[in-house]
Amino acid sequence: MIPYSHQCIDESDIEAVVEVLKSDFLTQGPRVEEFERALADYCSAKYCVAFNSATTALYASCFALDLSKNDSFITTPISFVSTANAGVYCGAKPIFCDIEPRTGNMDVDLIESLIEKSTKLIIGVDYGGNPLRWDRLKDMAEKHGLKLIDDASHALGAEYKGKRIGSCEFCDITVFSFHPVKPITTAEGGAALTNDEAVYKRLLMFKNHGITRNAGDFEFKPDGDWYYEMQFLSFNGRISDMQAALGLSQLKKIDEFIEKRRTIAKLYRDRFKDSDFFDFTEETKDAKSGYHLLPILLKDDFVGRKQGIFKSLRTKGIGVQVHYIPIYRQPFYRGLVSDVYCPKTEEFYKRELSLPVYPCLTRENLELVFEAVDEAFEKFK
Ligand SMILES: *Cc1c(COP(=O)(O)O)cnc(C)c1O
Repeated sequence: MIPYSHQCIDESDIEAVVEVLKSDFLTQGPRVEEFERALADYCSAKYCVAFNSATTALYASCFALDLSKNDSFITTPISFVSTANAGVYCGAKPIFCDIEPRTGNMDVDLIESLIEKSTKLIIGVDYGGNPLRWDRLKDMAEKHGLKLIDDASHALGAEYKGKRIGSCEFCDITVFSFHPVKPITTAEGGAALTNDEAVYKRLLMFKNHGITRNAGDFEFKPDGDWYYEMQFLSFNGRISDMQAALGLSQLKKIDEFIEKRRTIAKLYRDRFKDSDFFDFTEETKDAKSGYHLLPILLKDDFVGRKQGIFKSLRTKGIGVQVHYIPIYRQPFYRGLVSDVYCPKTEEFYKRELSLPVYPCLTRENLELVFEAVDEAFEKFK
């Protein structure tokens, strides 16, 4: 099977993890902070907190920005369920914003009409690694006093207006995922970046049971050097040193990974230029996509045939996927929000398939994908 995405691990990654295994600290050692520093430096952000997943990092971010019950937040339905779950964990109500058909990103121009009195923040997603129109989104959020989280789980290494995603130039917090299918991997893992020191402190405490050991932040007088304070309820959201070491090693290759993904995307575009079968999504203006995904959108003649094409490609060993089932279609969300109207999301869902793209996808295997795609679509013409 040629999957839609796959980790790319080399000897230097393996050595980095083995080195930690031979050391004193498997977790809570020096590698986690090194990884956090390296990520912050790469993105030109001030602060970074690494977590055991992007899901935890997203929840921590909503918490750190004071999202709570009686609040609402605006987000996109075309994402993994984690994005919306993050706000729901805090007790807030999700409001789903329809998308731009050409990119699959939340349509920033629609947000203003969705803002309610209770709305406190917006969680954007750089779908497939292609940045949102962050300048417009930032202006709008500032105008209405809303906080902004970038769920950039797909977008490490991507850029918007000459700034790396993660610089937090256009948002309060950026979150990355390091699941094996994402731009770099730590097996499981995530991170939240910010330029705000108070937010950073909350994120740090969140990953460690709500505990602080920082004397300057104590609410009560310490009764000894052993003293620490748990100031709010949280849990263990930590990443291990083994994972952080893998992340450090992977991060060294991020630019090379992104260039390979972009090269593969271009090969797809050239091969299927003016195709009768499908269209490609567009890159956002002034943005550099990291091509976490290679989404295609079926042309009208094939819209009712997605299941057949999907199955035919899977049978040929091509691990196509659909990104995503609109979040509001999930049973849990149907029970939570009943007044969703997102016609462009529905249209996108009818048409979207994700083809394989990852840095170590070989030219031979890419050719196999091209041929399988031709055959699968010809069959359903
Ligand atoms: C993968 C993903 C997540 C969750 O990441 P984990 O690290 O697996 O928790 C969240 N949001 C988006 C958009 C994702 O693609």
